[in-house]
Amino acid sequence: MATNNVDWQQRPPYTNDSTGFTVTYRAACFCGAVALEVGADPVDAKICHCRQCQTLHGAPFQWAVIFHKRDVRFVRGTDDIHFYHADTGRAAHVLPCRLSCAVCRAPIADEGRRMLLAFGPLFDFGFPPTVPASFAPSCHIFYGSRVMDIDDGKPKYLGHKGRSERWSPS
Ligand SMILES: [Zn+2]
Ligand SMILES: [Zn+2]
Repeated sequence: MATNNVDWQQRPPYTNDSTGFTVTYRAACFCGAVALEVGADPVDAKICHCRQCQTLHGAPFQWAVIFHKRDVRFVRGTDDIHFYHADTGRAAHVLPCRLSCAVCRAPIADEGRRMLLAFGPLFDFGFPPTVPASFAPSCHIFYGSRVMDIDDGKPKYLGHKGRSERWSPS
């Protein structure tokens, strides 16, 4: 880890310098206590069917939109973020870590060392929603734990993308 990194770069807000940051997309939790902006297009987007995502989201699968943390800044509610480290079951900012709103409990993102996997539904796409092509999931991961089939013709992996077998209909 670089020694010149300060605390706000290691945890939200990540970026607090407005020079050279052009807001491309905005996202917020359900109640609005926590909000973030990103200054770049996603580097990838995936649908995750793993058991952890299913139970933590209370949903059949999870839509993760992936950004470099350097392209993200939290603009509201950094004190209202609840951190959860699933590997130890502790509510702590230990990476990789799950972020949710401490007020409304909406899942916000999964935080890795360098990347933030923000949840697609939190972004403001207008109404009716116009979802940018760069937010379209490129694949499905952990498809072996799916609770419903998705017939969208996209690649499906039994585990992580590129690091596990491709699922194929039998
Ligand atoms: Zn909230
Ligand atoms: Zn998952």
